[in-house]
Amino acid sequence: MRTVAVYPGSFDPPTYGHLDIIERSSRVFSRVIVAVALNIRKNVCFTPRERESMLRKLTRPWGNVEVTSFSGLLVEFARKKDAHVLVRGLRAISDFEYEYQMAHMNTKLAPEIDTVIMMTGERYSAISSNIVKEIAMFGGKIDDLVPPLVRDLVFIKLKGAKRK
Ligand code: ADP
Repeated sequence: MRTVAVYPGSFDPPTYGHLDIIERSSRVFSRVIVAVALNIRKNVCFTPRERESMLRKLTRPWGNVEVTSFSGLLVEFARKKDAHVLVRGLRAISDFEYEYQMAHMNTKLAPEIDTVIMMTGERYSAISSNIVKEIAMFGGKIDDLVPPLVRDLVFIKLKGAKRK
């Protein structure tokens, strides 16, 4: 059976935590679609195109992973892609309530689609995109949190933002 999974998120920017979930999903599912959410209310630092481009480069090693973006209802996007699984990552109890609510709401909207929650890799449990941006803003080292390609872009973005 071919199982297509969608891994949605803001990925602003992608971190080693996201990549760990992507790599592990690529071993479990036949095809993994990493989907950059366009309609998020969060304050984002990178444009969707930048986030997609970073993810595309970073996921090159995995042949069954593709990257795209979506707007509107996630389950509608998943249906269009013939996906029956939504992948989400769980770091701490604090993530649980939100993920639980989302999973139930998505099941209500699309009972044929299941949410699979992947537990964070131990090494990545403290990593979030927000933490990366905060540390970088104060000039801290983010080498253990994001790949070099992302690190360089984060610092370029922040320099540009400071100049404004
Ligand atoms: P969203 O705004 O949709 O939460 P994120 O990019 O912050 O988007 O996260 C996408 C998914 O990846 C979420 O399910 C989040 O819990 C998960 N995730 C983020 N960082 C990690 C990490 N370090 N380990 C495991 N899962 C993570």
